[in-house]
Amino acid sequence: MQAEIIAIGDEILIGQTIDTNSSFIAAQLNAQGIEVKQKRVVSDDRESILEALERVHPQSRLVFMTGGLGPTKDDITKQTLNEYFEGELLYRPEVFTHITALFKSLNRVPSALNKSQAYLPSVCTPIPNALGTASGMRFERKGVYYFSLPGVPYETERLVEKEIIPWINHTLQKGTVVHKTTLTQGVPESELAELLTEWENNLPEWLHLAYLPSAGMVKLRLSSYDQPPALAQKQIEEEFAKLPSILGDILFGEDANTLQEVIGWELGKRNMTVSTAESCTGGYIGHLITSVSGSSTYYMGSVVSYSNEAKRDLLGVNGQLIATHGAVSEEVVRAMAEGARQKLRTDFALATSGVAGPTGGTAQKPVGTVWIAIAGPDFVKARKFSFGRNRERNIRKSALMALDWLRKEVQKIK
Ligand code: ATP
Ligand code: MG
Repeated sequence: MQAEIIAIGDEILIGQTIDTNSSFIAAQLNAQGIEVKQKRVVSDDRESILEALERVHPQSRLVFMTGGLGPTKDDITKQTLNEYFEGELLYRPEVFTHITALFKSLNRVPSALNKSQAYLPSVCTPIPNALGTASGMRFERKGVYYFSLPGVPYETERLVEKEIIPWINHTLQKGTVVHKTTLTQGVPESELAELLTEWENNLPEWLHLAYLPSAGMVKLRLSSYDQPPALAQKQIEEEFAKLPSILGDILFGEDANTLQEVIGWELGKRNMTVSTAESCTGGYIGHLITSVSGSSTYYMGSVVSYSNEAKRDLLGVNGQLIATHGAVSEEVVRAMAEGARQKLRTDFALATSGVAGPTGGTAQKPVGTVWIAIAGPDFVKARKFSFGRNRERNIRKSALMALDWLRKEVQKIK
C-alpha cells in the first residue's frame, strides 16, 4: 500500500520550522510496511493546497496532511478541504463538548473563535484530538483516504499513533510485514555493502534489505511484505545466521537499538561494572551509558577530567607524565583509565583524551587526534584515532568508538 504526505505551512518553507511531522508519519507508516512514495511541503494558501490535492499520485491510497487547522484566519486547510470535497461546514456538538472540557481543565472559557473549531466539513469523519482543539479529519474519495492533522507535533503524533494507525490496521487490507534488524558498528555503509555483496545477491527476491545509518552505526533490516509470516520469519532468521561469519565483531545486538543497551546487557550478565574518565568527550560517554534505564547497577560514574589538574588530582595521573608527553598521549590516557578503574573500583574503565577542535591542533597532534584507553581486569590498552575537523562529530565518534571497544572487551569474557 502506498502513501504520501503533504505538510502545509509557510514557516516550513522559509526554514523556520523543521518538518518533523512528515518524518514522524513516514517512520510510523514504514514500520507498518506502508510505502511512502512522496512527501511535499506547500504554502498555506488555498491555491497551493488545492494544487497539492490535484497532484496526489494515482497509486497513493493514503494521503496525510498536517498543519493549518487552527482557529485563526491564516489557517485555511479546513475550508479548502471542505471546498475540494464539496461539503459544507457543520456544527458538531461532540467536538464542542471536547473543546469546552479541554478549556475547563485549564480554567478557561472557549472564545467564539474556538467555537468555530467545532464546525467541520459535512463530508469528513472527525478524528478525536485528545490533546488539542483542532479535530483531525478523515475524507474518502474513490478508495483514497485523506487525513488532515494539526501542525502541533505532539497532537499529530498522538493522532497518528493512537487513532489512525489502529484504524488502518483494522479497516484496510494490507499485506503482512515481517521485519528484523541487527546493528553493526565501526564500518561505514559503503564498506558494509561491499562486505555483504554476495550475501545480499543471494537473498530471496522477496526479502528486502535496508541499510539504516545513524550516529556511528548502521542498522541492517530485512523485511518481507505479503508473505506467510512463519515462512518469512524463518527465512529472515536463516539469512541473519549467516552474518557473523561474514562480519565478525562488526555485528552486534540483534533487535537492540543502541550500543549502550548492548553494553548494559553484557555487563549485567557478567555482574561487572564500568567507569569513565573523560577529557575530550566531556561526559558524553557517561551520558550515553546513563540514558539506559537500570544503568546504575553497572555504571559507577565518571571523572570529567578536562584540565591537567583534574587528571592529576582526581585520577592520580602523574604530573610528570603530562609534562613529558602532553595530555593527549598514550601514556596519559592509559593512566586516566587506570586511575578511574581504581578510584571508582570498577571492573572496566574507559578514558578519552583528544583534540576535538576546531582549534587547538598542532603539527604533531592535529585536530581530530583522539587517544582512547580501556582498562580491564588484567589489562590496559590504548589506541590512537584520527577523526575529522568537526568538533561535535569528533566527540560523538570518540564516544561510540570507546563504547564499542568496551562492548568487544566485555564480550571476550566468558
Ligand atoms: P494551531 O491550532 O496551533 O494554529 P495548526 O493546525 O493551525 O495549529 P499550524 O498553525 O500550521 O498548525 O502550526 C502549529 C505549530 O506547529 C507551529 O508552531 C508550527 O511551527 C508547528 N508545525 C506546523 N507544521 C509542522 C510540521 N510539519 N512539523 C513540525 N512542526 C510543525
Ligand atoms: Mg495555526
